[in-house]
This record gives sequence, structure tokens and C-alpha cells, in this order.
Amino acid sequence: MSPGLVSLVGAGPGDPELITVKGLRRLRAADVVVHDALIGHELLDECRPGAEIVDAGKRAGGPTRPQAWINRLLVERARAGLYVVRLKGGDPFVFGRGGEEAEALQEAGVPWEVVPGVSSAIAAPAYAGIPLTHRSHAASFAVVSGHEPADREESRLRWQALARGIDTLVFLMGTGRLGVISAQLIAHGRAAETPAAVVRWGTTVEQALVVATLGTIAAAVSRAGLEPPALLVVGEVVGLHAALAWFDPSRALRVDRPAAAD
Ligand code: SAH
Repeated sequence: MSPGLVSLVGAGPGDPELITVKGLRRLRAADVVVHDALIGHELLDECRPGAEIVDAGKRAGGPTRPQAWINRLLVERARAGLYVVRLKGGDPFVFGRGGEEAEALQEAGVPWEVVPGVSSAIAAPAYAGIPLTHRSHAASFAVVSGHEPADREESRLRWQALARGIDTLVFLMGTGRLGVISAQLIAHGRAAETPAAVVRWGTTVEQALVVATLGTIAAAVSRAGLEPPALLVVGEVVGLHAALAWFDPSRALRVDRPAAAD
């Protein structure tokens, strides 16, 4: 039997309309869809009738599928000659273990491809009115893991380089560690007055924003009671949100035309 194909498809950051045209075409054609928790679930309505849909959702604290289980499933279905879409939140190769899944497929000799997606690292700030670069404020940005494995003696992050060398920092997976992250940045030379924001459920009806400074963001977020998924943005560009906030989550209608056209 000829091996099938696995497409690692970026679902986008949450708003189901932020999947790419190519990703949507792949999703509609799939025999098997294996998806994460952090996707716009309306996207699953696009699957063809009879498609097998597997929730491999890995939410912090919730039930999780071991990565090896997911890898095996992808390989087995593809070897059975099926067309498999692995639907991943944001972009498949920005955290979320897309690289590991690609390696497993490569090792198993299963044909695969990646369809990039709109990462939450860019889209959630954008929906909060925060451009990651701006000619007057920021010429560089970094997307950083806020969740280094606990069994590591030393974090892999080069805090001094991040604190001093990059204009805008975006931390994913760091909601529970805002105090540690901000303290590290300040200790390594970033001013405590630097604007900082946390965006929860960016691009969706659940979007919420807390804006403070690096020194106060952890306390502000805990006062506001924001829970994951959320990301932290640090840098002068955060100050632009006051002028550029454009998205009203309460008007985030799932229709084919922008709400502003009403
Ligand atoms: N591949 C994904 C990221 C996977 S890691 C991407 O490119 O977006 C998961 C982390 O992404 C979460 O812990 C959170 O920090 C962030 N995230 C995902 N969706 C988000 C959203 N809609 N709003 C804010 N942060 C989000």
C-alpha cells in the first residue's frame, strides 16, 4: 500500500478565519484530522463528512495525549494510505512540538509537509493594537518560551541578551511565571518602567488585555484574574495600544464580512 501524506497545518491563533487558504483546503480534504486544544473549533465544521477527528488537545492541567502517542497515530494513519492533517494552533513550527512531529514522520519515512500559520505571537498583539516593530520604537522582536522545563538546572534563555539586545519580547506559555520572567528581565538590565501587556485568548471573543509596566505586570494580571492561554509582550511598542486598539471582542462575529462593515 502506498503511504499517505501528513500535512502539519497551522490553524492560526484562534479566530477561525485566520487559517490560510492552503490550510483550509488541506483541512477540507483530510481523511483524518488530529487537532490541538488551542484552535478555533469552528474550523472542525470544515472537515468532510466521515472524516476521523481526533482531539489530541494538550491544555495545561487538562488531559493530555503523550507526544509519542500522537506521533504513532500520525504514522499509522498515513501508512494505512490515509491523508492526515495535523492541525496545530498558530504556526506549527513556533513551539507546540511541530518540529518533533516532523522528525518522527521523517524517521518513519512518511511523506509530510508543513503549511505555516499565523502565530499567536504576532496576531494576539496585533489584535490588541500592538505592532511588534515600529520605525520609531522597535527594530527587532523575539518570541520566547516562558516555560522552560523544570528539571533544567539553568534556563536555556540568555536573559541578558534578551533584556538588553531585543526591542520587543513576546513570551508564550508564561502566564503562570510572569513574576519570574519580569524579575529576570529587570535583574538583567531592562527598565522596570518598560511597558508590558498580557493578551489572553487573542483574536477571539474571549480576548482580554492587561497593560502595565514590567515591574507591575505580574501583580496586575493576577488582580485581573487572567488565565491561560495568554502571552506577554514587553517593549515600548506596548504603549501604542492606546492609540491603535481597534478590535472589539464583543463584536467579533463569525461572519464573512468584518463587523466594522455594519
Ligand atoms: N504554535 C503556537 C504556539 C504554541 S505554544 C503559535 O504559533 O501561536 C501555546 C502558547 O501560545 C500559549 O501558552 C500562549 O502563550 C500562546 N497562545 C496561543 N494562542 C493564543 C491566543 N489566542 N492568545 C494569546 N496567547 C496564545
